[in-house]
Amino acid sequence: NKKIGILTSGGDSCGMNAAVRSITRVSLQKGCVPFAIYEGYQGLVDGGEKIKELRWDDVRGYTLSNIRYLAKGGTLIGTARCKEFRTREGRLKACYNLIKNGIDALVVIGGDGSLTGADTFRAEWTGLVDELVSTGKLTKEESAHLRNDLAIVGLVGSIDNDMSSTDITIGAVTSLHRICESVDSLTSTAQSHQRAFVVEVMGRHCGWLALMAAIAVGADCCFLPERPPPFNQEKYGNNWEQEMCDIVAKNRSFGNRKSLVIVCEGAIDKDLNPIKPDQVKKALEKIGLDTRVTTLGHVQRGGSTCAFDRYLATVQGVEAVEAVLRSNRDVPAPMIGMFQNKIVSIPLMEAVKLTQEVATSIAKKDFAHAMQLRDPGFTS
Ligand code: ADP
Repeated sequence: NKKIGILTSGGDSCGMNAAVRSITRVSLQKGCVPFAIYEGYQGLVDGGEKIKELRWDDVRGYTLSNIRYLAKGGTLIGTARCKEFRTREGRLKACYNLIKNGIDALVVIGGDGSLTGADTFRAEWTGLVDELVSTGKLTKEESAHLRNDLAIVGLVGSIDNDMSSTDITIGAVTSLHRICESVDSLTSTAQSHQRAFVVEVMGRHCGWLALMAAIAVGADCCFLPERPPPFNQEKYGNNWEQEMCDIVAKNRSFGNRKSLVIVCEGAIDKDLNPIKPDQVKKALEKIGLDTRVTTLGHVQRGGSTCAFDRYLATVQGVEAVEAVLRSNRDVPAPMIGMFQNKIVSIPLMEAVKLTQEVATSIAKKDFAHAMQLRDPGFTS
């Protein structure tokens, strides 16, 4: 009879609601008691009204403008960035609030920051409980059966698909759909006026959205953090602008009335200088193209959740509850992922470490290694 706290943390992503729904209902089916923790770690730190038991109907969403829980984007239990939880003092308050509610397991849906925070919390757990007892904030009886371990399970909610050890993260495919819809809309104007469009998409350290969007909309060129241009270095040296312009001009010569370049937020050149949409625009203008820049921004985060993310979040939610029930203090906290179309459970901090190594490898210009860390099946 585990009592399972569920929270969404860090940047919102479509499918988080479907995950909350799934974890809630599977918990109930297995005889556990699910709790919503509102506003991410802030809710844990604040306690009170921000921690509430969930029943089957709470995730049906009748009161929520008739929009079904499964389909709604963002996160209905709220998310936040919580400075206090980064401190031991904040985590002490969080521990107090969990014990007061009898909660002995936590499923965190968030990015690598949120999952790192959860792992730290678990590592400190026994010490935190002991401190609360020794300072008289909790009685020994209150904490007795919860002192030994806090079960932690991570689900990755991230539109960037930037977590290593999993093929896909919750929300990435919906965002890809949003980008494609937006670019399709721009294409009408581009084609009518024979313009070039430079579209910036999200992804601080990960070019998955940019690359997949470029393939799906048939862009002339795309710029990523993991594969800096020029792609033909022998011919172009470091002059990526010239390479891009040659590609675009060639495509125009085949009768294309529009040009499209996708730029990832974290795109860089071979010297690690950022590639910004305005630079791309200037280069395209030099070859006579009427060029506009569109930054998609938060449009690509939201809206209705696509079928795949509903499915992914639901099946990962099932596995998350199973993982809570399997949890053992001697085993590292797991992260639920997907590998070759199968739901898998991997040690959470291993995945986080590999993810952080991607950024380090890029900073060292070891781009092939960065790609391998992201996707073990990758060969340059
Ligand atoms: P994401 O989970 O999307 O990577 P953040 O890195 O902003 O987003 O993390 C979300 C929240 O998780 C932070 O506001 C903080 O409350 C908590 N958090 C992140 N990193 C840590 C950490 N190292 N220790 C404790 N808490 C953390």
